[in-house]
Amino acid sequence: MPSVPTGCNEELFEAARLSSDSGAIARDFQRYLTQHLGRFIGCVPLYQYEALALTIRDRVMTDWRNTWRRYDEPGVRRAYYLSLEFLIGRSLGNHILNLGLDHETAEAMHRLALNLEEIMSEEVDAGLGNGGLGRLAACFMDSCACLQLPVIGYGIRYQYGMFRQEIENGFQVEEPDHWLRDGNPWELERPEFKNLIRFGGRVEGVTDSQGKRRSAWVDTTDVLAIPYDVPISGHKNHTVNTLRLWSASATSDFNLDDFNAGSYAEALEAKTNAEHITMVLYPNDVSENGKELRLKQQYFLASASLQDVLRMWELSAGRDYRDFKAQNVFHLNDTHPTIAVAELMRLLMDEKGLDWGQAWDITSHCMAYTNHTLLPEALEKWPVALFESLLPRLLQIIFEINARFLRLVAMKWPGQTQRQRRMSIIEEGDTKQVRMAYLAIVGSFSVNGVAALHSRLLSGGLFRDFYELWPEKFNNKTNGVTPRRWVAYANPGMSALITEKIGPDWVHDYAKIAAIAKHAEDAGFKQRWHEVKQANKQRLADMVRHYCQVEFDTEALFDVQVKRIHEYKRQLLNVLHAIHLYDRIKRGDIGHWTRRCILIGGKAAPGYRMAKNIIKLINNVAEVVNNDPQVNGLLKLAFIPNYGVSKMEVICPGTDLSEQISTAGKEASGTGNMKFMMNGAITIGTYDGANIEIMEAVGEGNYFLFGLHAEEVDRERASYDPARLIGQDEDLGRVMHLLRCGHFSTFESNIFDEVIGSLENPRDPWLTLADFRSYIDAQEQVSRAYQKRERWVAMSISNTACSGYFSTDRTISEYNKGIWKLQTRPLDQPSR
Ligand SMILES: *Cc1c(COP(=O)(O)O)cnc(C)c1O
Repeated sequence: MPSVPTGCNEELFEAARLSSDSGAIARDFQRYLTQHLGRFIGCVPLYQYEALALTIRDRVMTDWRNTWRRYDEPGVRRAYYLSLEFLIGRSLGNHILNLGLDHETAEAMHRLALNLEEIMSEEVDAGLGNGGLGRLAACFMDSCACLQLPVIGYGIRYQYGMFRQEIENGFQVEEPDHWLRDGNPWELERPEFKNLIRFGGRVEGVTDSQGKRRSAWVDTTDVLAIPYDVPISGHKNHTVNTLRLWSASATSDFNLDDFNAGSYAEALEAKTNAEHITMVLYPNDVSENGKELRLKQQYFLASASLQDVLRMWELSAGRDYRDFKAQNVFHLNDTHPTIAVAELMRLLMDEKGLDWGQAWDITSHCMAYTNHTLLPEALEKWPVALFESLLPRLLQIIFEINARFLRLVAMKWPGQTQRQRRMSIIEEGDTKQVRMAYLAIVGSFSVNGVAALHSRLLSGGLFRDFYELWPEKFNNKTNGVTPRRWVAYANPGMSALITEKIGPDWVHDYAKIAAIAKHAEDAGFKQRWHEVKQANKQRLADMVRHYCQVEFDTEALFDVQVKRIHEYKRQLLNVLHAIHLYDRIKRGDIGHWTRRCILIGGKAAPGYRMAKNIIKLINNVAEVVNNDPQVNGLLKLAFIPNYGVSKMEVICPGTDLSEQISTAGKEASGTGNMKFMMNGAITIGTYDGANIEIMEAVGEGNYFLFGLHAEEVDRERASYDPARLIGQDEDLGRVMHLLRCGHFSTFESNIFDEVIGSLENPRDPWLTLADFRSYIDAQEQVSRAYQKRERWVAMSISNTACSGYFSTDRTISEYNKGIWKLQTRPLDQPSR
C-alpha cells in the first residue's frame, strides 16, 4: 500500500491501515476461518469465501471511513442517487481488483492450496434489480467512486432479490432468491441512523408554538427504516463510497399490551406486516402498477433517504436551510422514487417549519429526473384513492403542486384547456390517477433521457408539452457500463493483452482504449486477440454445457442474445432466424455454411404470459435442432437459465455476435450492447437506442445494421400486413409453416397459438415480420464475414477500440458537468 499522501488530514485513520502482502492476507484469512467462523481450511468453500470476504473488507474499511470524513467536511456539495434497484452481482472480485490485490490474494490462496476463482464463485449475486435500469445504477456507483465524486446511493435491502429462474420441460419456473440466508459480509448495519416512516392516518390543521397554521399528520401506522451500508470501492484511489440500503422493521418488537393479554401471535403480526415492505423486489422490468405494497416501498425509500440527508445537514448547519439547495442534489432513477418531490416538501414544511415558497425553492432546485422508457405501459400512475388512504398528507401536497403548476400553464397558454388537461399531474377519468412522470418533471430542474434518440423522442413526443414550457430542463445522458467489471474483471485475458500494448491506464481512463486501434492490422496482435477470444469461448462453452447440456464448438460463430424477455426486444425475431437456418439445413441449402451456436437467455416477468411462451418456444426449437442428426453441429441453440450479472461476466467475453434487435424507437438505450462491444463482439442491430451511437463510433463497416428506423416504424403501422409479407417471402412462409404445423410442439398441440397469432396480427405493436427479410439478409452478411477470420478479428479489435465513449465514467462526468456540479474529492494522488 502506498503511504498516505501529503495534504490528507491527520485525523484520517492511517495507523489502522492493514498490510496487504500475500502473507498478511493468508494470515488474516486463516484467523477469520478458525477464530471467527470456527472452521478449518478443509471446510466447505462457502466459509472460505466468507473468510476471504472479511479479510478483503478489512482492507476497505480505513478508506471507507476516511471517505465519509472527507464528504462530511463543511461546504462539500453532494449528490444522492435514489433508485428502487441496484443490480450489483458479486462484490469480492470487484473489490480485489479495485484495491489492486489480484496477485497478492491469488498467491495467498495458493499458499494455502486453495483456488481463488473457486472461492469467488461461492458468492451469491446481489440481485436487487430486474435488468438494465438496476445494473446501470450499480455501474454508476462504481464510476462515482472511480471519479472520487461525493455521491451516496440510496436503495432498498430486499430480503428476496430477483427470482431464480429454473427451466422445467422448457417452461420458466420461478424460485425465491433468499440471498441473505448465509449472511452478507459486505453490509454494515447502522441502527444508529434509523428513521420513522409513517403511513395511513389523517391530516389535521394545528397552530404551532409560533402561532402559525400547520398541517399535522396523525394517527399513522409507523414503520422503522434501518440502514445497511455497502462499500463501493474506487479503482486504486483510496475512495470508498457508500450505498445505503434501507430495511423495514417494526417500531417495537411486539405490542406489549397484546403480549400481556396473552395474544402472542397477534403481537407478532404487526412486526411481520412492517417487515413485508422490504420483503421482495417486484419482478417486472416495465413498471409495476397499482400495487399498494409497491407504493409503500417507493415512499419508504424516499422518506428514509430524505430524512437521512436532512439529519446529516442539521449536523453541520442546524435548522438553517438557506444553503441546502446549493449543497445537495437528489437524482431520481426513473419515476419510482418520485414521491420524494412531495416528501421533501412535507419534511421542510411540516417538520422544519419552512413556508411553501421556501420549501418549493429548495425542492425544485434539488431534484433531477432520468426517464428510462417510452413504453406507455411503463408510465407510472397511482390511483388518487390509494394515495388518499396510504399517504394523505402527500396527496394534499401533490394537489397543491398541481394547482400552482396549472396556473403557470394557463398563464403561458391562456384558454388552451385541452393542454391544461393533458399536462395535469392528476389524470381525470373514472379513476383519478397521479401521473408520477409529470410530478417528476414539474419538481425537477433537469430531465434526461438515456440515449440520443431516446432523448429526442422524449422532447419531441412523450413530454412535448413540457419541453415547450421548459426546454432548458431537457437533456441527454447516454448510458454506459463500467469497464472495471465488464472488461478488467470479466475478461482478464483480453485485459492483460491490452495492458501489454498500451499500459494499464485504460482501466481508470477508458478513453485511452482507442490506442489499441493502431494494432488492428498487426498480424501478431490479431493472432493473440483471436486466441484470447477462443479461450473465452471455451469458458462460455463449458458454462453452456453445464447449464444446458448442449455442446458448443468454439470454431462456430457464437451468436448471443441475453436480456429480459420482452416482445419489444424481439427474441421472436431471433427464433425465426434460427428456424430459417434449420429449414435451410433440412432442404440441403448448406453451401459455404457458417456454423453457428445461438445462445438466448433472460427472465420473463412471472405474470407476462407471452414472454413465458417465448421461452418455451426457444426451448422447444432448441430440442428439435440439437437432436436432429441431419443438423450435425451446423447449428446449435441453447437457452441459458437464470441469466444474471455473474452469468453475463462469462457470456460477453465469449461472444462473437451481439444481438440488439429491438423494434426501432422502443429500446431507450440498452447497456448489454455496450458490454458486448467492449469485449470485442460485433453487433447486429436495429437503428435504436444507443445502438445508433455504437454504430457511429465503430463505423458502419464494423456493424451489421438492419430494419426499419423509428419514423418508418410509425409510418409502417397503418399499412402493416403480415399475411402479405408471409405470402411474398418464401423463406418466411416456410418458417411460419413449420411453426403452424406443430413441428416444434409435437404432443403439445396449440401451445404456440398465441405466439403465432401475435406474429400474424396486423396490429402487432413490434412489427416483427416487417424486419424479417432485412434481418435474414444481415445475418447472411454476418455468416460470410465470419469466414474471413483476419477481417473479423480486425472488426472485433475495432469494436473494443471504439468503445471508449460507452464507459459510465464518461456518462457520470456528463451528469456531473451538466446536472450535479460536484467537486471531486481526491483522497490521494492515486498511485496507479
Ligand atoms: C446489462 C444487463 C442487462 C441489460 O441488458 P439490455 O440488453 O440492455 O437489456 C440486464 N441484465 C443484466 C444481468 C445485465 O448485466
